[in-house]
Amino acid sequence: MPVALLLVDALSPVYVSRATLPVLWEFVRDGYAGPLQNLYAFRGIEATLFSGRTPAEHGVWAEYRPTPVQPGPAAGPLARLTGADKAGALERSARLAILAGDLLPSDRLRLDVRYVIDRAMRRGGTPAAGNLIPPALLGAFRRSIPAPIWAPDSLGAVPTLFDELHAEGGSFATILHPAVRDDPDIPARLAAHLRAGERPDLWFIKFNALDALGHRHGPSVAALGPGLARLDRQLAAAIAELQAAYGRRGIDVVIVSDHGMSAVARGVDVRPALAAAGRAGPGLRFFVDSTSLRAWGPPASLAALAEELERLPGLRLLDTAARRALGIPADPEATGELLASADEGCVLFPDFFRRERRASGMHGYALVRSDAGLPYLATGPDMAALLPGHPPYDHRSVWAAVRARLGLGRASPPAPAPAEAVLA
Ligand SMILES: [Zn+2]
Repeated sequence: MPVALLLVDALSPVYVSRATLPVLWEFVRDGYAGPLQNLYAFRGIEATLFSGRTPAEHGVWAEYRPTPVQPGPAAGPLARLTGADKAGALERSARLAILAGDLLPSDRLRLDVRYVIDRAMRRGGTPAAGNLIPPALLGAFRRSIPAPIWAPDSLGAVPTLFDELHAEGGSFATILHPAVRDDPDIPARLAAHLRAGERPDLWFIKFNALDALGHRHGPSVAALGPGLARLDRQLAAAIAELQAAYGRRGIDVVIVSDHGMSAVARGVDVRPALAAAGRAGPGLRFFVDSTSLRAWGPPASLAALAEELERLPGLRLLDTAARRALGIPADPEATGELLASADEGCVLFPDFFRRERRASGMHGYALVRSDAGLPYLATGPDMAALLPGHPPYDHRSVWAAVRARLGLGRASPPAPAPAEAVLA
């Protein structure tokens, strides 16, 4: 049976009601609708959804991982700053453009510059700039997963649903950014594919707009009302197109989010801790996003950093046992020789690109205790019957049900130990 997987970025279970998302509400009346278990991962969430493995098993966790340190003479400060030590000419000019862009006096403009460069670089196949890396450390990181998740062997030896479909003579199609500019274009793009006679076994369609709205307003149904109404119309149009082409019972639709949106109460300033680590010696490489700080470097710098971070309320260091319990890679290359994770509701602020306004909503937490912060799943009765085990489900459960519905076989890997036991 064909399946359409509609991934709605940051769709929280608390957004869904008859009043806010009437089409979605009606659609899942006889099926399953509810929260999924939280997964502490970033790029690794899609990897889990399409492979049925934990990040510890497939190895993808964040957007970026450090580039291997080359033996030999250390690069000078300017070479490190621009990546001139190992980057090509295109990458070098991109980094210089980012350096210039980061001087702009507006969070929005700085992000826009990086976004434009990111798109240009992705086309060239080179590691892109991202918006999470300070300019001085751009050369120190590379993408965690070089190809899109649907590309052949995107997870190496771990097969994705796309790999399995390909091996068994099935087909799939994707509709997502940057091929579509904005969510309102999705139904028309889908209709064009269907008019051209495409009837793939699996659709992967991704809606993005809700994530940015959630960051700006927090998980407030009142503030998000117009955005939710737009999403409901787009979902309705997409489902109608699919059912017109495949027949009403000829395709299963799964609506799933990667994560929810937690209300942000407090900022945690990690800059003094980073400065203390810098005073302990050179060579610290760090990556700070809104909920996690990862660092690699000489033991003296890491020790100084750990000591400072341990004093900060709202942050906790995750050792190997905690990482294992969370199902994330325990190896320091992927997750950090040091990994500090913010408690739900805290964000690392200010950071180098968000200086003016703290986000009101955030995701990417190790533990989520609010309903708003959890991912969401909605699907009809036939697919719901294939969810293995019983609630609470997680992204691996969704994978198992989709895989079974596609006729690719049935398997559900064992669940990891509950993280709460280790982190409480
Ligand atoms: Zn987001």
